[in-house]
Amino acid sequence: MKSHKISYGHQYITDEDIQVVIETLKSDYMTQGPKIAEFERAFADYVGVKYAVAVSNGTAALHISAMALNVQPGDNVIVTPMTFVASANCIRYCGGNVHFCDIDQNTFLMDIDKLQQMLESKPKGFYKGVVFVDFAGYPMQTEKIRCLCDKYGMWMIEDGCHAPGAYYFDSKGDKQIVGSCNYSDVTVFSFHPVKHIATGEGGMITTNDSELYYKLQCYRTHGIAQDRTKLTQDLGGWYYEMQELGYNYRITDLQCALGISQLKRLNWSLERRQQIVERYNQAFADCDFIILPKVASDVYHAYHLYVIQVEDRKALFDYMRSLNIFVQVHYEPVHLMPYYRQFGNKEGDLPIVENYSKHCLTLPIYPTLTEEEQDFVIEKIKEFYKR
Ligand SMILES: *Cc1c(COP(=O)(O)O)cnc(C)c1O
Repeated sequence: MKSHKISYGHQYITDEDIQVVIETLKSDYMTQGPKIAEFERAFADYVGVKYAVAVSNGTAALHISAMALNVQPGDNVIVTPMTFVASANCIRYCGGNVHFCDIDQNTFLMDIDKLQQMLESKPKGFYKGVVFVDFAGYPMQTEKIRCLCDKYGMWMIEDGCHAPGAYYFDSKGDKQIVGSCNYSDVTVFSFHPVKHIATGEGGMITTNDSELYYKLQCYRTHGIAQDRTKLTQDLGGWYYEMQELGYNYRITDLQCALGISQLKRLNWSLERRQQIVERYNQAFADCDFIILPKVASDVYHAYHLYVIQVEDRKALFDYMRSLNIFVQVHYEPVHLMPYYRQFGNKEGDLPIVENYSKHCLTLPIYPTLTEEEQDFVIEKIKEFYKR
């Protein structure tokens, strides 16, 4: 039996990564130095967007995105329930009301038909915006959401924390990479160690809107004006103005040096994930006790997570954990969290996501997972269902 732990996700830090962090430690800057702009530029170029703002974590990225889109107390916003709680919390930080829209049976992404029904059931202007997630790495059809949002005058926050590098083709046949913001107002990313790019803590916001870009830079640094031409008066070199209530959501140069180095390996790590997926898919192809992820052939899935659906999940989970295989559940639906139940959300509201969340199980997937480790995971799952 394997004694070492196999987790569902794991960062990969190379000697080169360590070297660049050491070099930054020896430089003049620990924070707010040149590595931040360099990381932002490299990331923006990778996804094909005009602007990128690096921040302290993905949750901070969501928070100041909601602020920059002017979410006000009482604003009604639609959010997917199949996500990490931060996707919804950013609306609550601004005092907005969160309304959940059920997911699609096959993709586990927000169901666009149900979104449309929700919009049609209220007067135009009732909902101000939507937060959707490229769940597990599956890129959302942002063009379709844009059509609806334009009709109803709504903004779009894309939570791309699972999906750097993922893409789909829009109706014109153009490749739409997550973060390119051709349809979304902003896209946010996280660089937590379980995500594709690890900087310890870290986050990024991308946008093509120069006004949003300016606001995001201010909110990241206490609401202090970041452009001297925008000062109400200029008393000289020392002078600065706090114009809005912002936060200290800055990232450090050390983290950005690591991020730049990690970004260089993103394509390689995405390919590794695809290989792991193919091996799982083949191994389970004729196991009728497992529902495998269904992915349209014309999308490139980033596979932050590899999620299967099974019966008897609790027992399988416990069995795998007893073998030191750290499978995980992504996620408990957000609308059923005790905090969100106080707003009237309850079991039965969103049948598809509730059913999915009772059967889903995330298997280990990360670039350095070995074939031997993966075979061990596969073997133990098959063994469990033979009993
Ligand atoms: C990880 C994650 C976040 C939060 O990112 P942090 O960097 O941990 O704050 C938000 N949304 C989704 C979908 C995530 O997976």
